[in-house]
Amino acid sequence: MTKWVYSFGDGTADGQADMRNLLGGKGANLAEMSNLGLPVPSGFTISTEVCTAYYDNDEKYPEDLADQVSAAVDKIEDSVGGRFGDKEQPLLVSVRSGARASMPGMMDTVLNLGLNDDTVAGLAVQSGDKRFAYDSYRRFIQMYSDVVLGVEHHHFEELLEILKEENGYILDTDLSADDWENLVGQYKAKVQEELGRPFPQDVNDQLWGAITAVFGSWMNQRAIKYRRLHDIPAEWGTAVNVQAMVFGNMGDDSATGVAFTRNPSTGEKRFYGEFLVNAQGEDVVAGIRTPQNLTKEAREEAGDDAPSMEELFPSVFTQLVEVYHKLEDHYRDMQDIEFTVQQGKLWMLQTRSGKRTAKAALKIAVDMVEEGMITREEAIERIEPSSLDQLLHPTLDPDAERNIIARGLPASPGAASGEIVFNSDEAEKLAAEGKSVILVRIETSPEDIHGMHAAKGILTSRGGMTSHAAVVARGMGRACVSGAGSINIDYREETMSVLGQTFNKGDIITIDGGTGEVMLGSVDMILPELSGTFGTLMAWADEIRRLRVRTNAETPLDAETARKFGAEGIGLCRTEHMFFDADRIVAVRQMILADTLDEREEALAKLLPVQKADFVELFRIMSGLPVTVRLLDPPLHEFLPKTDEEIDDLAKALGADAKKLRHRALQLHEFNPMLGHRGCRLGISYPEIYEMQARAILEAAAEVSKELGETVIPEIMIPLVATEKELEILKGKIEAVAATIEEESGASVEYLIGTMIELPRAALQAGQIANQAEFFSFGTNDLTQTTYGISRDDSGSFLEDYITQGIYDTDPFVSLDRDGVGELVKLAAERGRVTREDIKLGICGEHGGDPSSIDFCETIGLDYVSCSPYRVPIARLAAAQAALGMTRVSEA
Ligand code: PEP
Ligand code: MG
Repeated sequence: MTKWVYSFGDGTADGQADMRNLLGGKGANLAEMSNLGLPVPSGFTISTEVCTAYYDNDEKYPEDLADQVSAAVDKIEDSVGGRFGDKEQPLLVSVRSGARASMPGMMDTVLNLGLNDDTVAGLAVQSGDKRFAYDSYRRFIQMYSDVVLGVEHHHFEELLEILKEENGYILDTDLSADDWENLVGQYKAKVQEELGRPFPQDVNDQLWGAITAVFGSWMNQRAIKYRRLHDIPAEWGTAVNVQAMVFGNMGDDSATGVAFTRNPSTGEKRFYGEFLVNAQGEDVVAGIRTPQNLTKEAREEAGDDAPSMEELFPSVFTQLVEVYHKLEDHYRDMQDIEFTVQQGKLWMLQTRSGKRTAKAALKIAVDMVEEGMITREEAIERIEPSSLDQLLHPTLDPDAERNIIARGLPASPGAASGEIVFNSDEAEKLAAEGKSVILVRIETSPEDIHGMHAAKGILTSRGGMTSHAAVVARGMGRACVSGAGSINIDYREETMSVLGQTFNKGDIITIDGGTGEVMLGSVDMILPELSGTFGTLMAWADEIRRLRVRTNAETPLDAETARKFGAEGIGLCRTEHMFFDADRIVAVRQMILADTLDEREEALAKLLPVQKADFVELFRIMSGLPVTVRLLDPPLHEFLPKTDEEIDDLAKALGADAKKLRHRALQLHEFNPMLGHRGCRLGISYPEIYEMQARAILEAAAEVSKELGETVIPEIMIPLVATEKELEILKGKIEAVAATIEEESGASVEYLIGTMIELPRAALQAGQIANQAEFFSFGTNDLTQTTYGISRDDSGSFLEDYITQGIYDTDPFVSLDRDGVGELVKLAAERGRVTREDIKLGICGEHGGDPSSIDFCETIGLDYVSCSPYRVPIARLAAAQAALGMTRVSEA
């Protein structure tokens, strides 16, 4: 016989805390509290397996379930001394759902079940309070009708309002016992009218109705949607908890409340909570009456006159404090508890691990280590790496009101408010005037860098999580919402329209890059604060992790930010990003559009000193830490002048013929620039570009080595290699430059040459490529793009379909696809190591900052991950968790 039903209460239980999968979170914790000897009203849990069986079997229950439930009801009766359906000594129960993970959207609670026209009289006698009995009965009819029978609350609320009005009552407390009895009659008539059948009087019908409503709610639309959003499988099922009622509304010596064992928003170790005298749990949640503080201290701080529980019920309060210590010591975590006091006696209704902010999570974890409650490893495992974002960027005040007008992808966390502007020059101009601006673009390109930098936040209507806007914004630590497709942007009119409204340049919006929300007006923010506990936990993580953490950075600001966050070097310096400053773009365009070698060399001569100065600055900031500089790798179109006006300006600046330039630009036009003349292919065609860059890097390294008194060993990286030969040729060119510099300076230069592995062919040929390469850096942005054959910039249009239909678990540009792209990475790492045992291996695609992908990098033994500056702390923590063997599911 399968055991479907698990009893608890009276200091014992069939279940325990680790049976969460079977009993749901609530059921497992009720069992555990019973085992701990805490005062838990007796009850039973119908297991999640029943839910699964119910749906597998055409919504029919297992045959032996009814007997098991009835035996469990008997057990409650024996424990509390009442009888279910009994006229004199009625037993009343609550029925609650309880899945493995708490799930809003499901049926929550039915209280006072077991009341009918007969038992209500028994309750009146038993409690000595007829008013209480009928008040409970009308609450039950309303709740049951709403949750189980589908007759909505407002029907009942209207009747109550009418009755109050007719009698000139203001408060519910003005109603007498007879008034409530009268209302009960009206409520029952209402149910009859709405449903064409009477409100169920048989208590067993009531019970099974509620049980079925809980199981039914597992498959309602809201629950299904919530599961999909949170990766909860339908097979998990929900449990049902049936428990003897205790009453917090049995007079002034009764109460109900909720508490946290520590402050959930700051983490402070102080008992924290609220209660209501003479009330049921729902009253606290409903917010009709203002709850009172639990502790005297909190009451005084709040300047509140209403007495605290500590003052009002001192002995119950002392008991509650003991319970809280017992629960925290037992669970070794902050608990969120619910309790009821019935005529002076304390009852525990729930305990669970309390939800908390990132700040509180850090403080609680670090404090608990210091209190000897948990180990450092446990502290590290308890913090969700991506939650650290909350601490690194300004975030919206959770209490502030939001008027959401659109949603896009949460491309770069943080929140920002400002005037909308539609082009980057304007953004820069207004920011220079001290204004906060949000740059709104259909999509961004490298030419928008200055505008993105000047803006507080970036909003695009097109583009995915690795679109230009997203990558650059994350790198800069700017808030960004990308791909908000419902927004229509008109550059010419400088307007954006959404939901039938049009917004003009200068209108204020707020974006939340952590959720993807776009809101009208400005919303209050909370500023970041890197508290002491943040540093402590990070230091522990650093001791544990094996993977090194570098950053993707090319500007001094990014490099400095990343070092502040603990980066141990630069894993990717994208040199093309250095080419867009106003003072060099002309020379860059000249270099690209040059017809002849002479012309190109003229441009390169202008670029050499500026590039060198850039590298000097980066090497200085990184003071001896490894720096990987990638040679030029842009799809060429990113650099070309686009409009006639731009071409004319360029022609003027260069003293060149505009027509000729236009012709050359046309010649260079590509249909598919991502697969075009980019990466090392540029170096093969125009080796002088790479030679100039190599010279700038090596001379800068020599200069900074002298300053620091230690050798800076730059890592020169060639992008988009597919064959050994490409690398062999380009390596030869760089070595020749190095030899020339050695000759000129008389000093030896040290450097490494390596490559990105970002094409499937490169991964397969890694063994051969390693003959030339001293390091590999996995460019998983391009590798994902080329392995799947989907565009980094355009996949947003169908990704949602792929995820909702379960074809992709998550966006493969966010979380590394282990089965495909990951296999290639693993194979390349293995093959590379066979050829060159000590080859350095890292990853510099966006995945380098994603906890699940970092876990993968740990399992295949890479040496380091590299990510945007603001993700460095996340990567440090994720690397420590990976070293502890803790696998995280993707958080995308
Ligand atoms: C990559 O392709 O993963 C990479 C890091 O290079 P980029 O994003 O600059 O193409
Ligand atoms: Mg790439």
